[in-house]
Amino acid sequence: MQLTLWTYEGPPHVGAMRVATAMRDVHYVLHAPQGDTYADLLFTMIERRDQRPPVTYTTFQARDLGGDTAELFKTTVRDAVTRHQPAALLVGASCTAELIQDDPGGLAATLQLPLPVIPLELPAYQRKENWGAAETLYRLVRGLAGLPPAQYVRPPRPAERAPRANILGPMALGFRHRDDLREVRELLALLGIEVNVVAPLDAHAADLARIPEADFNVVMYPELAGTLADWLARQWQQPRTRQVPIGLGATADFITELATLAGVDPAPALQRIDARARWFARSVDSTYLTGKRVFIFGDACHAVAAARVAAREIGFTVAGLGTYSREQARELREAAALYGVEPLITDDYLEVERHIAALQPDLVLGTQMERHIAKRLGLPCAVISAPVHVQDFPARHAPQMGLEGANVMFDAWVLPLMMGLEEHLLAMFRDDFEFSPQAAPSHLGATAPSSSNLGASAPAPLPAPAPASNEPSWAVEAERELHKIPFFVRGKARRNTERFARDRGVALITVETLYDAKAHFSA
Ligand code: SF4
Repeated sequence: MQLTLWTYEGPPHVGAMRVATAMRDVHYVLHAPQGDTYADLLFTMIERRDQRPPVTYTTFQARDLGGDTAELFKTTVRDAVTRHQPAALLVGASCTAELIQDDPGGLAATLQLPLPVIPLELPAYQRKENWGAAETLYRLVRGLAGLPPAQYVRPPRPAERAPRANILGPMALGFRHRDDLREVRELLALLGIEVNVVAPLDAHAADLARIPEADFNVVMYPELAGTLADWLARQWQQPRTRQVPIGLGATADFITELATLAGVDPAPALQRIDARARWFARSVDSTYLTGKRVFIFGDACHAVAAARVAAREIGFTVAGLGTYSREQARELREAAALYGVEPLITDDYLEVERHIAALQPDLVLGTQMERHIAKRLGLPCAVISAPVHVQDFPARHAPQMGLEGANVMFDAWVLPLMMGLEEHLLAMFRDDFEFSPQAAPSHLGATAPSSSNLGASAPAPLPAPAPASNEPSWAVEAERELHKIPFFVRGKARRNTERFARDRGVALITVETLYDAKAHFSA
């Protein structure tokens, strides 16, 4: 048992729903208790889809448990097929239905339906949403494309035919998947690579059966399409990409990788890498961004990519890096080692909150959860990964991948920060009513966190843990002096001074202690 208030990922059947909903003619019959239809709202409200997901629930109730739930499942399958006429059917169970062990796959087989039926085994108590999505995509393609003949050897591409790739991974409820796909398509077009199938987004069941015809696979999101791509590599001898094109450096590496797989020259495409973000990050206005400490958390693919952009393309210092994707923990650990930080692998948002509070970064890049945490701690924040709320399914084109993705990220990450000039004004004119330490970034206007959130007038900007008996306390003058420090570095100054005092057994922090600590930490 684990006490949980927020969860980064839903149960695995939500992952299966994301695959079915992305596709055109696949239906999903889900053995589930009454009430599980809540998941429909994720698609109709957060992603604002104009149709209900293609999912039929058995919605059994307590009184059904005394009767024949297996018969209820079979009737539901028959009715769903008659009504929706899908080209392929997924069947599976949600968490509660898993406990009653009705075996959806076996029951559906007894109906001898005139269409492919793919049973899903999604262990709801061990696995989560992204794993469920990856498993469903793999099972569907395996069921529809089948296995190659024995001793299969992929024939070489005829010289007169252009190279052909599948694009795997974009799906319903994916963070910026719609727009990332457009960017990836453009990168493939630059290299003269044709798209064979995009899956699962907007694909038909018949398209999945054609996947083995491509020369190689482009894996947009490893946590969603990695399982399928690895199977295709083993069985159908289709190589796959490893590089995720988020950030300019990563996009250049992606182009080189694609060119190698396709046997074409990457040079003309590489010359086109001239996103505005590159110049913006070098322009003198961005000098004040250098060395700002950033904490990054999300799914592994976005967190690792964001760390590279932050450190190598904008000049931030990566102060913390973590993920909730346990399946991708190895990749994250490798990235954390590059930046000399401890990897944080957890799906407990309270642990993430403690980590952020201790680090006191200048900027948080995370999910919707970190947005809430940063708001509570009065820290600037931008969203880089799912889970996200409705505002991160924007109407405008807002990719993370490719050249335009780099532009979008640069704007989104810099926006929450105080602008350079204002930072100086704050330090110089701290009694000014407009540029006072109590003021939020003025370019954020009324939408900025309020001054009380920022801890400007309150003595402590952080919800400090209950003071232990050996915690130093603050003299009134010292507290007043602390408040002369601009709010965006005040939390860090407070913590450093308290640490300094604790290490030396100082019980009362005076103005002198504050300056001693400053001298100590800036030495
Ligand atoms: S079956 Fe699972 S997803 Fe559905 S309500 Fe119960 S715990 Fe939630």
